[in-house]
Amino acid sequence: MELTLVLTHACNLGCPYCYMGKKFGRRMPEEIAERSLRWTFDRLHAGDDLQIGYFGGEPLMAWDLLQKYHLRAMELAKEKGLRKLVGAMTTNATLLDEAKMDWLEAHGVVVAVSLDGIRKTHDATRPFVNGKSSFEATLRGLQVALKRAPLTEVLCVIDPATVEHMAESARFILDQGVRVLSLSLNYAADWDEHSIAVYERELEKVGDEFERRFRAGEDVYIASIDSKIRGRLKGGLKECDRCSFGVGEVAVAPSGNMYPCERLVGEDNDPKWVIGQIAQGVDQPKLSAINRRRVTLDPTCQACAIKDRCMNTCGCSNAFSSGDAAVPGAALCVTEQIHARVADRVAKNLFWEGNPVFLRKFYYETGVAAEAPNLALLAGAAD
Ligand code: SF4
Ligand code: SF4
Repeated sequence: MELTLVLTHACNLGCPYCYMGKKFGRRMPEEIAERSLRWTFDRLHAGDDLQIGYFGGEPLMAWDLLQKYHLRAMELAKEKGLRKLVGAMTTNATLLDEAKMDWLEAHGVVVAVSLDGIRKTHDATRPFVNGKSSFEATLRGLQVALKRAPLTEVLCVIDPATVEHMAESARFILDQGVRVLSLSLNYAADWDEHSIAVYERELEKVGDEFERRFRAGEDVYIASIDSKIRGRLKGGLKECDRCSFGVGEVAVAPSGNMYPCERLVGEDNDPKWVIGQIAQGVDQPKLSAINRRRVTLDPTCQACAIKDRCMNTCGCSNAFSSGDAAVPGAALCVTEQIHARVADRVAKNLFWEGNPVFLRKFYYETGVAAEAPNLALLAGAAD
């Protein structure tokens, strides 16, 4: 199960694409945090796993709350006999220092850092609220995170305004020592034909960089490529790989409103995505109505060759790209096809070269081989 606590709406950055909207500084009252944990633990059993996400705004602006409620979750997890409790925090890293990172590491909280690539693109999309550059502060925070946790993920948002530098940005981020990278599209932006063509060109270059790093003996994870290779090897994404939108996953806003995904909280003023209130619990008829439509693929998807490894059931990506959690928008559809094409090309090349890093990663270490032992699966991947 996954619970996300939106600890605060405050943030020290002013990213123009921010889906959290205005930064009005509302913090989660302690009573709401405690209720959220209670509600979640009431639904868990001994031996279960729980992931708690700490989200904002910028969660480090509510550092005291994060610490207090992660310790409380650890206490409840022990009482309940959970198998695993993992904390996860997405941060802009500008306030991350060694003492905080030590605490997070020691208490099992995994950190993901948002960095939008090279200075030029990062400055265009992730300035401080006063308009000044946050580039140096983010890089400093990233290094603090990488020193303690070398597998710290970097989230790089790709926007039509910055897409022409995507490959350069990916290279730059990997050159910082990052091994796990997500190039996340801003689906809410206006992706016209030209920007999609640039996206395709740039992702081909990212694919080349992926191959180059594997040939140099580096094992890097680039989400849009890795997930499509894994999806192919597994014969399609499994239920557990797909978005659980409000069922196994709930986000709670500082007001106590419950959402199916933290990305839909926004300014917490649109009842469309509210699926309950933490004092009363989930509005099941409303949630079921959203999900009934979401898991029914439209006829175009039914006939699509990559439907089993497409993100077409990701409720929030659909919502941002089309306005409807059940409908993948045009930008999502076309970029998913690009991801599959580039991933198949890269996989085919590295497979036929017998690249040892590639074979170890995708066949011998991840357990994918056990689910799809047919090594020849990738042989025709790009045919
Ligand atoms: S750092 Fe995150 S929360 Fe803050 S403005 Fe940027 S996207 Fe929004
Ligand atoms: S690529 Fe497009 S048509 Fe194919 S499954 Fe995904 S959303 Fe549907």
